[in-house]
Amino acid sequence: MIRCKKCILNENFPGITFDENGVCSFCNKSQDTDLKQHIIMKHQDKFKELISQYKRKCNYDCIVAYSGGKDSSYTLHLLKNEYKLNILAFTFDNWYQSDFAKKNIRQVVKKLNVDLIDFTPNFEIWKNILNIVKESNFYSTKHIQRASDICTTCISLIRFSILKIAIQKDIPFIIFGMSPGQSPPASSIFKTNSSILAKMQSIIKDPLERKLGKKVSPYFLSESDFQKTSFPYIINPLSFLEYNEEKIYGILKDYGWTHPQDTDSCSTNCLLNSLGNQIHLDNYGFHPYSFEVSEMVRFGILERNNALELIEKKQNEKIIKLIMNELKV
Ligand SMILES: [Zn+2]
Repeated sequence: MIRCKKCILNENFPGITFDENGVCSFCNKSQDTDLKQHIIMKHQDKFKELISQYKRKCNYDCIVAYSGGKDSSYTLHLLKNEYKLNILAFTFDNWYQSDFAKKNIRQVVKKLNVDLIDFTPNFEIWKNILNIVKESNFYSTKHIQRASDICTTCISLIRFSILKIAIQKDIPFIIFGMSPGQSPPASSIFKTNSSILAKMQSIIKDPLERKLGKKVSPYFLSESDFQKTSFPYIINPLSFLEYNEEKIYGILKDYGWTHPQDTDSCSTNCLLNSLGNQIHLDNYGFHPYSFEVSEMVRFGILERNNALELIEKKQNEKIIKLIMNELKV
């Protein structure tokens, strides 16, 4: 198995080539540090500017996708304490949220005094959706490069459920706590509009609707949502703000946040992630977190050894069997 000498991408990664030194095409194409730093600074300024423009114009300044994991918990802390925003947190329980995450969510929102919407989709429909997306070629290569099909599906449903709330309540910012490896700084502040959202939504909604009919409608934007005149920004602050895992864990400790003992090495909130990882490894021959952690190695915020360790840990077979049995995937 050939693996890049700089990052951890292997020869099975779609579109990869290696140079004579064993360095991959993704590392060779990666921006130089000065340019990266310039983009980061530009987005920090833009974020501050947007906050001063929109703060306190609505009941909530932002809606935050809150999984209870370390990154979104830290994001919530930053937005409330550093930027003094009025926050509505949104949690999507995909039926396999870790019990540790549930406790962590309550601890953090209680200490920060923020409102929380806790949403769980109908199990039968959720099960049907997961069985449809597991069929081959549901997602494009770009999706497959970045996450497991299960993760992409979950994030899509979260994204559109949150967009629906933000549009209906006129909330100007939708905030995700993605790590710098998951969301590049250059696309970390993104203004939506009806035509972009319609395009984004049709990629997942149309094929699901063809199989399941109108049952999936509640999880997506409706015609009346598209008629609105103002649309929110989607922002990933951890892409352009300081990201230091040790510091993050230190801050979260003060909230009584505890590290889950039941999740896989790449998640701090979700048990379903293990199954997504295993299916991805079996189907494509590379770990679905390879791209994210490779980016973090290139950014200098994760050591290559530690990145390798994360993706080489075995998935919990007991949990996978249990979930497969329930979901019939
Ligand atoms: Zn590489």
